[in-house]
Amino acid sequence: YVGDATVGAVDDMIEAVKKDAPVPIPDYTSFDDYKAAGGFAVHARLRAGDLVSDTIIDALNEGSHRGLGGAGFPHALKLNSVLSVPSPRYMAVNADESEPGTFKDRYFMNRNPYQFLEGMLIAAEIVEAEKIYIFLRDEYPETARILADAIEKLKIEKLDGGRQIFLRRGAGAYICGEESAMLESIEGKRGLPRHKPPFPAHVGLFGQPTLINNVETLYWLPEIIHKGPEWFKKGGRHGSKGFRSFSLSGHVKKPGVYITPAGITAQELIDEFGGGMKDGHKFRAYLPGGASGGLLPASMADIPLDFGTLEKHGCFIGSAAVIVISDKNDLKMVARNLMRFFEDESCGQCTPCRAGTEKALKLMEAEHWDRELLTELSTVMRDASICGLGQAAPNGLMSILKHFPEEVQ
Ligand code: SF4
Repeated sequence: YVGDATVGAVDDMIEAVKKDAPVPIPDYTSFDDYKAAGGFAVHARLRAGDLVSDTIIDALNEGSHRGLGGAGFPHALKLNSVLSVPSPRYMAVNADESEPGTFKDRYFMNRNPYQFLEGMLIAAEIVEAEKIYIFLRDEYPETARILADAIEKLKIEKLDGGRQIFLRRGAGAYICGEESAMLESIEGKRGLPRHKPPFPAHVGLFGQPTLINNVETLYWLPEIIHKGPEWFKKGGRHGSKGFRSFSLSGHVKKPGVYITPAGITAQELIDEFGGGMKDGHKFRAYLPGGASGGLLPASMADIPLDFGTLEKHGCFIGSAAVIVISDKNDLKMVARNLMRFFEDESCGQCTPCRAGTEKALKLMEAEHWDRELLTELSTVMRDASICGLGQAAPNGLMSILKHFPEEVQ
């Protein structure tokens, strides 16, 4: 199943969303309110030459700002990498939020779309992107309408700098959230991940250097520049720097999107933000990074949820989707469910992932798990798959084998 190849400028998109059934639009910060609160000031200073790109890149570097779509690549490094290749350059915004348990980008786009869009315009200005493509998850119809209106407003207010801004609709394929598959889909092709290198920063959309940023990464940009990198850095906890938003779900009293200090632990997130465990449920395990990030026992809930730390335990934070599992859940069933998801979403391009997920699922449906065979299969998938989907697919399974050996005796 592939990404929608719908091609069209924002006007087409507006027509498309108008034809759709009416959807309830949440309250969000209007253009006037955002501007009155100092919005677009950083963008205006940049365009007036009062602020230069290097100052912004230095500030992002100093503030340790990283990409928040999953990989955590330093933002300043990415901007410089795109700038190292001659123009014309493009920009692609990854708004195809489809990692299970992740819904933070929807929050930012639905509540304060203009802050995200200001961040987008600042980044586009820095790399002198000629065109901007926003690749939006199509399961967010209200977001499509908000963004279509907001982009139109940017045009009216002449804030787009003459750049074309395209709003593209995904079509439900998880793999199109993988950056190179997203580029293929935007180009109107089947959403298959590309071999890397070359990396999209050098050879991206239509063969041109392309800046790819996630929604939340851009959302923070104007605020970091406006308040200063020192402000952002101070936000961290347990040795981490900055702020992070978590999509918290599962058996907690108050699931939702929470902006917290970076490096917060799962226990702190549940207690301070999630209102504790639901009545009648005991904290047993958690997924720190959606379906891809593995699974940890509650006894390891004091590990900072940040880049670098979780890797030591075979997990990763990814898009910061924390799913809390209780003593009422069957862990083997959780792992099977995750593997079924990857089997379903595999694009089928490479054998380790296409055949590996299918084979692993069959083995996991047996009453007794063959630890040796599953470990061998997982190693092949991790080592030989082309993209992150196949490489991360065995993480849940391997977590069960590692942290919950009693489940597979
Ligand atoms: Fe496709 Fe899976 Fe290979 Fe990625 S790892 S290219 S999703 S088959």
